Parts: sequence; structure tokens; C-alpha cells
Amino acid sequence: MRVVHYPDPILLKPAPLVGRVTDEVRKKAAEMIPLMHLEDGIGLAAPQVGWAARLLVAWDGEEGTEPMVLVDPEILEKGGGFEDGNEGCLSFPGIFGTVARYQTVRVRAMNLDNQPFEVSAEGLFARVLQHEIDHLDGVLFVTRMKPADRAANKAKLEELVARFERRSTDT
Ligand SMILES: [Zn+2]
Repeated sequence: MRVVHYPDPILLKPAPLVGRVTDEVRKKAAEMIPLMHLEDGIGLAAPQVGWAARLLVAWDGEEGTEPMVLVDPEILEKGGGFEDGNEGCLSFPGIFGTVARYQTVRVRAMNLDNQPFEVSAEGLFARVLQHEIDHLDGVLFVTRMKPADRAANKAKLEELVARFERRSTDT
């Protein structure tokens, strides 16, 4: 398993529902967590590892807590108004920019035992959940980035496209 980079087409497509967690889903989800740590991320969505499924792993940033796995997550409530924050994405190495996100979210999801649960998040964790759930809809943070920041990253984005095209013709 590896992290796929923009503009891999899987990143641009809405992912299908998982529906029921099987052993195969558990196995893949378990592989995503060390990969996320290895890449110094705090969130990773299944399409980012080339897997078309509505599943994500996210860490709330609290010392001593484990990353959470959310299967078929759904945002029930967004609130607190918008807050600007700096974001990066493991599928966009070297690219950072300001994105406005809701300050709080309440999300319903299933865990790996097929049990529904809800999580209320604020601040950075709310931002991570919104960013990762966007991935499940094929929405990328560069499209939500402040236009000035997107413009500042233009050359880096073009380099990612060129690198992807080189890799596609190599294999
Ligand atoms: Zn991302």
C-alpha cells in the first residue's frame, strides 16, 4: 500500500459506500494507520491509497490516543462559522495553503465492528474530518484553497501533474 498523488484519477471520483465491514476492509484499514504515521499525516482517506471506499483514518491530535477509523462517515452538523487554517495533504507533497472550514462538526460513522457511532470535533480535528470526508466525495483541498494561495502553488501543482504523467508513461 502506498499514498497516491495528485492527479491520480481515483482522487477525483466520489467513492462508493463500504456498507458492511469485512475482514478485508479491516485488514486494509489497519494498513492505513502505520502508513499515515510514516508520512507524518493526521488523516488519510481510502482513495488516497488507491482504494475506492468511503473509509478514512483520522487522529484527534491528543497525546495517548489512537487514530480513529470512520466507515461511511456522514456529516450531521457543521457549525461555529468558518475559520481559516493552513492545510496540507499527503497526496499533494510540498503544497500548503489556507482553507476555510467549519469550526465544529458532528459526524456519524460505522466502526470496524459494524457499529454506528458519532464523533463531535472542533478545531484541528474538525478540519481533518472535513478534509478527509471531502476526499470521499472526490473533492480536493486545492479547490477550496484561497485563490491567492492556489496561485502561489501553481508551479508545484504543474510539477505534480508532470511527475504523474512521466510515471504513467514509464509503466
Ligand atoms: Zn488530503
